Amino acid sequence: MGRSLEDYRGIVGDEVISLIYRKARRLYRKHILHINSTYQGGGVAEMLASLVPLMNDIGIDTGWRILHGNPDFFTITKKFYNALQGGQINLSEMKKQLYIQANEDFSTYTHVDHDCVIIHDPQPLPLIKLYRKRQPWIWRCHMDLSNPHERLWDFLKNFILRYDVAIISSEKYKRKDLPVEQRIIYPAIDPLSSKNKEIDDEVISKYLKKFSIPRDKPLITQISRFDKWKDPEGVIEVFKLVKEKVDCRLVLCGNMAMDDPEGWMIYEKVKRKAGRMIENKDIMLITSENNILVNALQRSSAVIIQKSIREGFGLTVTEALWKGKPVAASNVGGIPLQIKDGENGFLLEPDDTKEFADRIVRILQNPDMAEEMGRKGREVVRKNFLLTRLLSDYLDLLKDMME
Ligand code: UDP
Repeated sequence: MGRSLEDYRGIVGDEVISLIYRKARRLYRKHILHINSTYQGGGVAEMLASLVPLMNDIGIDTGWRILHGNPDFFTITKKFYNALQGGQINLSEMKKQLYIQANEDFSTYTHVDHDCVIIHDPQPLPLIKLYRKRQPWIWRCHMDLSNPHERLWDFLKNFILRYDVAIISSEKYKRKDLPVEQRIIYPAIDPLSSKNKEIDDEVISKYLKKFSIPRDKPLITQISRFDKWKDPEGVIEVFKLVKEKVDCRLVLCGNMAMDDPEGWMIYEKVKRKAGRMIENKDIMLITSENNILVNALQRSSAVIIQKSIREGFGLTVTEALWKGKPVAASNVGGIPLQIKDGENGFLLEPDDTKEFADRIVRILQNPDMAEEMGRKGREVVRKNFLLTRLLSDYLDLLKDMME
């Protein structure tokens, strides 16, 4: 049986649960539709997999559809994703056409007569132009929009301007040149999902064994898609410096998202960079998709690193904090919303390899400090970044949209 809202009582308390039921009352019999472009891989799919069943549980009929794209489409939208976060793109007419075409194809076999449509990220943005608009449409953007490629942004505005509201993950992403209402909703994790629920040491050991990860040395772990913005190569540089001071092992765990065609290319680069350290298991690369493995890795690590150059929000940081782990992470995107430097982790400049290494060594050499940081981190997440808070924010938003 699926989870229901009451299952979260023990974690968030009765008041939060009761308030959500009260908010849901205003939305009975409403049909809501979420659309994104992958069921698996990445934070968006992760959140929808937990949020959608819970919305249904509290009485709101909520669907989730996936925009089907071919490899060309995903190659282009990956380029869009890179360029929206500050990268370069050759924005040809062909790319624009293929992007719109996949949306057009989808619209011919997908009916939309819901009371509200929520579009996630740029892949399905054009859909709004392909239907007669009879309900509020929300664009939920999970990316870092602080420095988008100008021409691409201008092209996408053709669609964004039609939306009733744009939801972003941080105040920093508000765009002055976008006259659409912009609201902030922080992402969240599901404390009961297989990735985040409590698991005992027996299960942890079993999963680490299954993936041949020894526990003889402290583990430093980054859980992230093999993506240039997550800087896996930079992590290796940090690790090399740490290893000069403390004997430890690095695990880079990155699944391959269906809508991310660059993954294997980056993986190969990382593998080359790690070189001989792979053979003696000083560095381990894992590409399997396995939530309990991620859970086990986060729980068994001495330090979690997140060395992103850009980051929409950084759910991997949230997940680690929830598990009471000390985190050394870049001061980018949504990460400073979660970590207060020196309190519940360390915030560093993404290109400061030496400082990253120093902080990690400090954590490894000070277990009491590490534990205290972890304890504080868990409370920050309990208060601000759990699924129940996300659900509550969505209910407020939907109410406003449908008044
Ligand atoms: N993730 C995973 N397996 C992996 C790598 C990532 O399950 O091998 C999950 C990770 O635990 C997190 C999500 O994918 O829940 C990544 O979200 P985040 O916001 O950190 O980054 P995004 O991939 O959305 O840029």
